Order: sequence, then structure tokens, then C-alpha cells
Amino acid sequence: MEIIIVGAGIAGLALAGLLGRSGHKVTVLEAAPAISEVGAGLTCSPNLTRLLSRWGHDAEIRKHIDVLSQISLRRWEKGEFLGAAPLMPRVEELHGAPQYVAHRADIHKVLLEDAATVSELRVNSMVTAVDFFAPSVTLSDGITLRADLIVGADGMKSTCRRLIYDYLGMVDKATPTGDAAYRACIPLDEINDPELREFVTERVATRWMGGGRHVQAYPIRHGQLYNMVLCHPDTDISEESWTAKASKQRVLENFADWDTGRLQKLLDLIPEDNVLEWRLCQHDPLPTWILGKLVLLGDACHPMLPYNAQGAAQAVEDVAVLHLAIDRVKKPNDLPALLKAYELARKSRSEFIMLQSGVTGKALHLHDGPEQQARDQKFGSVSQGGDNPDLLGDAATQTFLWDHDPEQHFLDNIEALLQSAHSQLTSNHVVERPNGKL
Ligand SMILES: Cc1cc2nc3c(=O)[nH]c(=O)nc-3n(C[C@H](O)[C@H](O)[C@H](O)COP(=O)(O)OP(=O)(O)OC[C@H]3O[C@@H](n4cnc5c(N)ncnc54)[C@H](O)[C@@H]3O)c2cc1C
Repeated sequence: MEIIIVGAGIAGLALAGLLGRSGHKVTVLEAAPAISEVGAGLTCSPNLTRLLSRWGHDAEIRKHIDVLSQISLRRWEKGEFLGAAPLMPRVEELHGAPQYVAHRADIHKVLLEDAATVSELRVNSMVTAVDFFAPSVTLSDGITLRADLIVGADGMKSTCRRLIYDYLGMVDKATPTGDAAYRACIPLDEINDPELREFVTERVATRWMGGGRHVQAYPIRHGQLYNMVLCHPDTDISEESWTAKASKQRVLENFADWDTGRLQKLLDLIPEDNVLEWRLCQHDPLPTWILGKLVLLGDACHPMLPYNAQGAAQAVEDVAVLHLAIDRVKKPNDLPALLKAYELARKSRSEFIMLQSGVTGKALHLHDGPEQQARDQKFGSVSQGGDNPDLLGDAATQTFLWDHDPEQHFLDNIEALLQSAHSQLTSNHVVERPNGKL
């Protein structure tokens, strides 16, 4: 098949590599003028690392990762230690695949280099319109490109998603959660204070928690950078974007009375021009991920809040299933049911995770009082396997998130998925250009 993938993010590139190697003619269209180093720390949970390893990326990726031993849980006020949630090697023993952290740009580069060997990547190619039924895409310079299938992998602010909503006469709603997140990285060279050095030399994530706010921080690039995410009440000036700049002064003001020892010293070291701010919004589940011969995946169809570290993981789970579905297409008529089978295999799981992420945020942001005290008491026993009020550290949640193998699940259930797909296609699915429309 000739396949156009809109967006060269983690999902678009991972899919391009797989489809290209299966023999499809793949073109990836990226709006950015060049692929540059963007982003910061990315937590790679076992459901993501299992797939990357199976697809042969381990050797390259392992050059860039850091394996953390635990999450150290601390109180906001003086940074008092509350407990520690164990990570590796326990995660790998229990879930059969490792958890690690990396710079997003390093994982992205590995996938880019792989995709480049088997697909064509065009930068400066912003898609502004899609004909769902031709199918074709039109770029901002007016050029139209046709293919057999269009994949919308264009992220949180997806044009492809908006076009589906427009076509259906519906509104793409993003509800602000009331929270926003600053992101910043401190270079190791800046961290000379011996009291702070252990933050980068020890492979430990640290979480400071207080009313309406929390800070999550860990070293990346083998301790060359200290990655910090600082969630705080939304100021109304932030936007839902990975690249919106913010001022260091606002970070200092927001966390002024927090851990006046080590955290304040770290905040002082944040480079002035290196703070981004992301308004955290909860998105509604989409009515459909498919319209004609356009199919969505990744953040384009389930933009995640950061609390459960599942953005990249759920996107790559989609990639796994969509790749298997496309590979089973033997004749054009097979396509609608296989796309629908992909959607049936993926939509409810990823949307549940998208909605559940907000619950974790609430547990971290409790104001001082009886609820917070009960939570903190539980943190004291998490290292011995006690209940963890932070959902990401909760055993049942981890099993649900991390043990899922989307490829195995799809292959095991393919007949049932196709049967449901066929029955739904005959009732309410738009597969052909309706008369007179578009
Ligand atoms: C700049 C940036 C920085 C990020 N940093 C982090 C981070 O530090 N930590 C973290 O956990 N997650 C980060 N993420 C998000 C994380 O990569 C995603 O949650 C996850 O990997 C799912 O990826 P995706 O491929 O679905 O979407 P994305 O990774 O968002 O990729 C979407 C791609 O589509 C392109 N695009 C958008 N619109 C169009 C269009 N109309 N035409 C053509 N191309 C288009 C975008 O430029 C982007 O390259 C970042 C994302 C971006 C875009």
C-alpha cells in the first residue's frame, strides 16, 4: 500500500519503520522545518520498552537510557522523606520488561534513523486539509498528495482530529484541568553543590508533594541533565503545547515556600531560557478514530495527562496494532474492517487510561490535613509492597498498564475483532464518500 503518515513524532516514526520494513511505500509528512532536539525527560514503562525491544531497537536505545532504582517520595515543606517506591530490578522481575528514562530526543532519533532507511520523510510539510475518501492530504503550500491510506499521527493538537470533528459537525473539546506543568532541565555542570550532586549521581526519581502542586525530577543522559516537571495551578496564560515558553521567575514564585533546602537550590539552577509550560487539559474520547481512509493514532486520538507516564506508551501500543492490521490487508476491500478491528482493540483501553490519569494527579496534590496525613502514612510502607495511593505505584494499576501486550492481544482476538468490525461497519461506519458530500 501507499501510506501517508502525518507527523514525525514517536508514533509516526515507529509506524513508518514497521510499515516500511513490511514493504509498504511510506511517506512521513512533518510540519516542523527540521527535526530538531525537542522535549526533555520521557519515562518509558514496560509496555513501551517491551515493544521497542521486540522491534530491534534495544541496542541503540540502551546507549541513551538511565535505569532508576526507586521513586523517593517527599513532603513539600522541608523535603522530609516519606517513603520510596521501588522500580528496577523489581519492575522487570514482575512485568517482564524494564522501565527506564531517557531524553525524548534520543528515543526519537533512534526511531527516526530506523524509519529513514525504509520510508521517505518530508519536513516543512504541514497538512492543512484531508480528503478522507480519495484519500489525499493538502499541505500549507497547496500541494496535494494521494495515497491508499492516511494515518494521522500529528499529536496533541492534531489537525487530522479536528478535521474529523469538523466533518461530523461536532466540537473537539479540551477541558482545562486547572493545572499546568513547567518543564526544565538543569545541566550537570551547573550542579556543583555537594548536597545536590546526589540528585544526578544516584539513579533515583524524586517526587515532592504539596497542596495543588507536585514536582517530579530525575536524571537523564547518564546524569548529564536533571529533568524537572513542576505541576502547579494553571495561571490562564499557559497553552496546551509542548513548546510554549515560560519564565523562571514564575517557577520560583510558584514554589517559593517549598523545601527551602535542596529544592530551592535546584530551582535556582534552572537556566533562564529553558522553562516550558504546558496547560494540562482533559480531552473527551473521540466519536471515532476512523473516517473513510484516514485513521488516527497516538496523542492525536488520546492526548494524555502526564501523571501516569503513558503518552508515548499508549501511542506505541497503537502503532503495534495498526501495523498488524495494515499488514493483513490483502485487497482494498479488507481495509475498512481491519481499520475498525484496530480501533476496537485500542480505543477503550487507551481512553480509559487517558481519563484515569487525572485521578493520579488528585492524589499527589492533596492539601495538608487528615487525607494528606493518611496518604503519607501509606507512603511509609510502599517499599515493603504496601498500598500506594499514587496510582502509578499501585500494583493493580501497574499490572493493567504494564503487562498488556497489544500485539499478542490483537492476534489472539483477531477473529472476534473482525466479526464485531463487520457488524459495526454495516450499521454506522462511514467508509465511502456519501453522495454529494466533500
Ligand atoms: C515538541 C514535543 C516535545 C515533547 N516532549 C516530551 C517530553 O519531554 N516528555 C514526554 O513525556 N513527552 C513529550 N512529548 C510528547 C510525547 O512525545 C507524546 O506524548 C508521545 O510520544 C505520543 O507521540 P505522538 O507521536 O502521538 O505525538 P507527538 O510526539 O506530539 O508528534 C506529533 C508530530 O506531528 C507533527 N505535526 C503536528 N501537526 C502537524 C500537521 N498538521 N502536519 C504535519 N505534521 C504535524 C508535530 O510537529 C510532531 O512532530 C513531546 C511532544 C512534542 C511534539
